[in-house]
Amino acid sequence: MKLLASLLLLAAAPTRAQAPAEPVTVIHAGTLLDEPGKAPRRNATIIIRGKTITEVRDGFADVPGARTVDLRDSTVLPGLIDMHVHLAGLDDRFQSRLQAAGRDNEDEAFTALLNARKTLLAGFTTVRDLGGDPRLVLSLRDAIAAGEFSGPTIVSAGRMVSVSGGHGDQRNGRNRDLASLVPDHTNTCNGPDDCRRATREQISAGADVIKFAATGGVLSNVPGGLKQQMMDDEMRAIVVTARTFDRKVAAHAHGVDGVNAALRAGVDSIEHGTFTNAETFKLYRSTGAYYVPTLLAPAAALADGQRGALTPAQYEKARLAAGNAEKSFAEAIRQNVKIAFGTDTGVSPHGRNAEEFALMVKNGMAPAAAIRSATVDAADLLGKGASIGTIAAGKDADIIAVRGDPTADVRLLEHVDFVMKHGRVHKLGGARQLTASD
Ligand SMILES: [Zn+2]
Repeated sequence: MKLLASLLLLAAAPTRAQAPAEPVTVIHAGTLLDEPGKAPRRNATIIIRGKTITEVRDGFADVPGARTVDLRDSTVLPGLIDMHVHLAGLDDRFQSRLQAAGRDNEDEAFTALLNARKTLLAGFTTVRDLGGDPRLVLSLRDAIAAGEFSGPTIVSAGRMVSVSGGHGDQRNGRNRDLASLVPDHTNTCNGPDDCRRATREQISAGADVIKFAATGGVLSNVPGGLKQQMMDDEMRAIVVTARTFDRKVAAHAHGVDGVNAALRAGVDSIEHGTFTNAETFKLYRSTGAYYVPTLLAPAAALADGQRGALTPAQYEKARLAAGNAEKSFAEAIRQNVKIAFGTDTGVSPHGRNAEEFALMVKNGMAPAAAIRSATVDAADLLGKGASIGTIAAGKDADIIAVRGDPTADVRLLEHVDFVMKHGRVHKLGGARQLTASD
């Protein structure tokens, strides 16, 4: 009888079972860079329902019952996207070295959580994490995606695939006791078959994108320069294997032989791309690959070396790379290469990703093009152009704002006043806003 009564009650009250209405937010934008790279709009209204932009209108419109955010004195633009960060771990090289023996994965995870929040509050609503402890970064990615913690959307590479002794080998430069304790070196491979295995293992662990090290790297503690260290057949095996799982591929590459070999292997992006020649630019154009310049990294690494925070092997490579990244970048602008914004933050401090813009502009890129590289073009490289990168109906409500005109002065992007991610306001008037996930 009781059961029947409850069933009748349920049938009689269908509205109770309906989901609560999604919150509606209205943004009044004085200047709107809805599609960076194109002319801005003046006086526009963005209507956001739940996590999604539902409409962009000319003029300032009101919606009854909606929360209105007044950004009439600001420039409103899509959330920024950084294609190359490392969220886990301390970003102070010296402290990282001093504390290494005492820190566990749990410590690294809490640091990563804090780094993620700093990144979001700096206006970066999406990042690609190109290498760290896979379990840690993937857990963080999923917890943020579930709305449990505040941070940017994370696209993770797991651990970078590398040859033994290469840039991603965690055993480099350790004594034999410590080397024997490195728990996970499933990411190192030798020979094409083994590199297929290493690629599949990262995908099995949950990687969204595959990263491999084509050449030596500045901060790996092994001497041997920055030349090509992974063989052509190994790179090709990684790219072909990644494609069978619909994964894109990013190649860490400094030396010109490695940059060109990775482009010939068919990667989607070159990370760093420090040394180049005429062949490099032909290959960028013929393959359509993006160049992710990370200009902040060589400067940060050199400064670390100068203050004694690098080993001799690292410092030698930092000196080798210094200055060349900016030269290659300037040439890439002249050669009309596709560029996606990336910083290698983690080498430089978290939350200061936007300092990359000034380096891009200093070396010949127009401010509007630099902003486009961190929105429209980065979204394209991620294969997420349908959901992020512009402000339009149907897109994710990832929106930021700054005072003044960032297409005249890109340094304004170093001080973002407003941050919304998936419809939630995390920063307003330059102040952090606590949400249910804080
Ligand atoms: Zn990196």
